[in-house]
Amino acid sequence: MKAVVVDEPGAVRVADLPTPEPGPNDVVLKVGACGICGTDIHIIDGEFPPTVYPIVIGHEFGGQVTAVGENVTAFKPGDRVGVDPTLNCGSCYFCQRGMGNLCERWNGIGVASHPGGFAEYISVPERVVYAIPDDMSMKAAALIEPVSCVVRGFHRLQPQTGETYLIYGAGPMGLLNAQVARYNGASLVALIDINQSRLDRAKNEFGFEHVATNLEDLRDIAPRGFDNVIEATGVTRVAEQAIDAVKRRGKLLLFGVCPPGEKASYDAFKIYNEEITILGSMAVLNSYGPAIDIIASGAIDVERMVSDTFTLDEFPAALAHVRSGNGLKVQVAGTSS
Ligand SMILES: [Zn+2]
Ligand SMILES: [Zn+2]
Repeated sequence: MKAVVVDEPGAVRVADLPTPEPGPNDVVLKVGACGICGTDIHIIDGEFPPTVYPIVIGHEFGGQVTAVGENVTAFKPGDRVGVDPTLNCGSCYFCQRGMGNLCERWNGIGVASHPGGFAEYISVPERVVYAIPDDMSMKAAALIEPVSCVVRGFHRLQPQTGETYLIYGAGPMGLLNAQVARYNGASLVALIDINQSRLDRAKNEFGFEHVATNLEDLRDIAPRGFDNVIEATGVTRVAEQAIDAVKRRGKLLLFGVCPPGEKASYDAFKIYNEEITILGSMAVLNSYGPAIDIIASGAIDVERMVSDTFTLDEFPAALAHVRSGNGLKVQVAGTSS
């Protein structure tokens, strides 16, 4: 079968690999679609420490079951499924306390040592496979994982209905955060980006009226700041400046993945005096199931979110398109429908 292999940082190729057979507790699926994520770029560039090379990348995917291992009871060939890529160990200090996303032996499908979804077929443990509705497209199924990261962020934020939001970054993750905020009963959702075409798309295609290239232009709609500020650019300097947008007793969620080791500095007096909370949100925890339900409810505009679809053979072109920053979510589609 065809699969996208990263042999070492900087070396990506479409390879011919053996089609996987299921182990006793595994489910093999024919991949229907798999999204390209910023993490994939980091892995290709050698900037994701957990990665063990060579690796088949891809962690945002859905598909149709083609084979199951002898102990598998919940799935059968033909079932349409999504996969939570988290492979936590289940037995470390954090796993035993319900914090599997912070596992001391954390592993992830397509990002650490388990082969991923940019392949025609993939074998995964039954415990991370989720049934999806019959009418959910593969395009939508491949969006469950990024939405599940957003849901994890909202589980950390615990926003109240009627609150206001400012999201830094109007790329795929910023727009998913904005749509989940709207779904959560936001009274106002604003977005900031330095790329005007992204702002135009947020406004014209997704209906987010309040967009700007800087905070000052949003001061009149939120003179006291925003209840929830979500940093979705992964730029440390933005994570630092975002504190200026937080309302008294508001929250700043660091959702974007900033480069390890970089420091953001905050006015400690302001955090104290204005009762501000700064939160982190790491990947997926008990949020994959809710993400399926949120997408099934129609809260995410799947058709507009997925801007481009490529075949596995076209992976280098798909990658170049993601790097250009022009599209939104770029997916590689297989042959399941
Ligand atoms: Zn991702
Ligand atoms: Zn663990």
